[in-house]
Order: sequence, then structure tokens, then C-alpha cells
Amino acid sequence: MSWLEDLSNESIALQTPTKERIVQVLSCGDEELMALVASASKVRRHYFGNRVKLNYLVNVKSGLCPEDCNYCSQRKGSEAGVLKYAWLGAEEVWEKVEPGIRSGAKRVCLVASGRGPTPKDLDRAGEIIEGLKERYPNVEVCACLGILQDGQAEQLAEAGADAYNHNLNTSPSNYESICSTHTFDDRVQTVGMAQASGLSACSGLIVGMGESDEQIAETLFALKELDPDSVPVNFLLPFEGTPLEGRWDLNPQKCLKILAAARFVFPDSEVRLAAGRELHFRSLQPLALHIANSMFLGDYLTSEGQEGSDDLAMIADLGFVIEGMDENTFASERRMAVAIRQRGAGTDLPPNA
Ligand code: SF4
Repeated sequence: MSWLEDLSNESIALQTPTKERIVQVLSCGDEELMALVASASKVRRHYFGNRVKLNYLVNVKSGLCPEDCNYCSQRKGSEAGVLKYAWLGAEEVWEKVEPGIRSGAKRVCLVASGRGPTPKDLDRAGEIIEGLKERYPNVEVCACLGILQDGQAEQLAEAGADAYNHNLNTSPSNYESICSTHTFDDRVQTVGMAQASGLSACSGLIVGMGESDEQIAETLFALKELDPDSVPVNFLLPFEGTPLEGRWDLNPQKCLKILAAARFVFPDSEVRLAAGRELHFRSLQPLALHIANSMFLGDYLTSEGQEGSDDLAMIADLGFVIEGMDENTFASERRMAVAIRQRGAGTDLPPNA
């Protein structure tokens, strides 16, 4: 049996791989890539079948952040030219999420720039969350508001939030090179506070910031210690006007290896394809969905993603289904998505679409 078969069997049996094994995954040769994808896909299929969970992101407050995270277009002094606005009103947010939910999003992620929420911010977030839960009781709401203080996670949970996102982003040994205004431990503490209040923890990483394979493995194991329910894997978007501008360390093959490493460390947790998937996976995006079981639909915080109809068509072409969406709705969404593509190509809809 090959080392990759061993790895997928161990992963299915929920045995955590060694750090050396994960570094081997991250650094394996491209000639092993398809075997690696097949091996990670076996784990994904075992725990998630052919389901894809869709998440829809709304940036409720953008820019003007006093923190200096090097990867972020909203950081202090950023010249990235992103939209800057204070909190959106609750009505506006409820309207913004509607197209995402109609397209099958099972989770709405509410993201606010800044170090952490003020008491007023929490009141605003609470109003938005309560209204969302009233309108869409079956849709999960995840808040991402930065570093939390005592009692704040409880307030969000009381308002009806299901989850809190706070990424570790990189390894403890690399943290100082990407941010000087808060620490790795600050991030760990916030994830712990969210969990202690009963919120589901969503915490992941960003790759492509100059970290080594060992540091990617370290990040995955640091996340594993926190036991998050969902793990977004972000691929650096090197925004102009940020310190990481022009940094292009990744290629589609490397991205697949990173995603596979995340899957082996988190066999039964939601592994989410997050920012940068279009730019870095390019034509290999469908292979990525054989490893990840979740993705963002449409746009990211400060950049545009591919059209939602292209995402739905990709999911249908893979023979996958959208988690939580009934078959008839998915069939009609799929037909619409394919029709949009065909119209673009100037042809009629194929009979099997
Ligand atoms: S990642 Fe968050 S805390 Fe860091 S600069 Fe961006 S908005 Fe601010």
C-alpha cells in the first residue's frame, strides 16, 4: 500500500497524521499530485459525500482598521483603494444576503474590519443577527468582528449567532512577520472565548505569505488543538498598497497540496475554499472541490469572486449537490447557471443541462 493510501485510511479512522507526514504532503512532487487529490478526496467523500456547503459573506464595515496585518487591504495605512464605510444598517444587510441565500448559502458570514467590537458595534451586530434569524431561521449566522473581550461572545450567542470566525492565519513562529499590533495568542484566546460561549468556532489560515511548509504544518496543528468546526483556507491576494503586494508564492499544484494537508488534519471538519481560489487554483478549481467540502459563493471582503452562476455550474458539473438545498431547487438553479453560460457562448441549452 502506498503512503498516500495509508494516509487516507488513517485519516478516515480519525488518526491525526504526524507533522512530518503533513510536510511530506506539502512538498511531494507534482507527479504524485493526482494520487494525492484522490487520497484526500476519499476522506472528503467518506465524511461529506458529494455535498458542498455554500457560505455568503457580507462586509458590514469596511476599511479604516487600526491594526497592521500585512496581508489585509483594510490595514492601517493601506493604499489598496478598497471601499471604506462604517457599519451598514440592519435593513441593508438583510437585503444584501438575500441573493446568496436564494443561491443556496447555508451560512451567512458577517465581517467587520477593526481590532474588535465596541459595545455599540455589538448592539449593531445583535440587531442584524436577530433580524437574519427571524427571516431565515435555517440559515447559520457567523460573526467575524475581531478580537473579543469578556462577555462579548455570550452577547452574540444570545442574539442568535451560530458561529464566530477568527483565523489563526499563520504559525506562532511566523506571526510577528505578518502583524505587530496583536499576537498569535490574542487570536487563540478569542477562538477559546467563542467556544466557551457555545458558538461554533470557525478558524483557518492564509497561505502564500512567505511561510515554509513546516510553518504551514505548524499552523494546521495549532488549529487542530483548538478543534474548530470549520477551517477556511485562504490563498493570499497580494493587494497593491499592502506590504505583501507582488508576492506570488503559490501555483495551482501547491494550492492543492495545501488543501489536501488541511483535509488530512481535519478529516471530518468543514474545510472551506476561501479567498483567492479563483486566482490561485485557476483551471484546477474543480479538483479543489474534491478535497474541500465548503466554499464561499460570490465575492470576498474586498475583492470580487467568480460569478455565482459559474460556481453553481461547476458544482453541478462535478456531480455534487448543495448542502441544504432540495433537489428541485438545485436542478432549476443548475439549469439557470448553465443557461447563462450557454447564452454567453451563443448556443442553446443542452438537453441534459
Ligand atoms: S485582518 Fe482584520 S484586524 Fe487585521 S488589518 Fe484587516 S481588518 Fe484589521
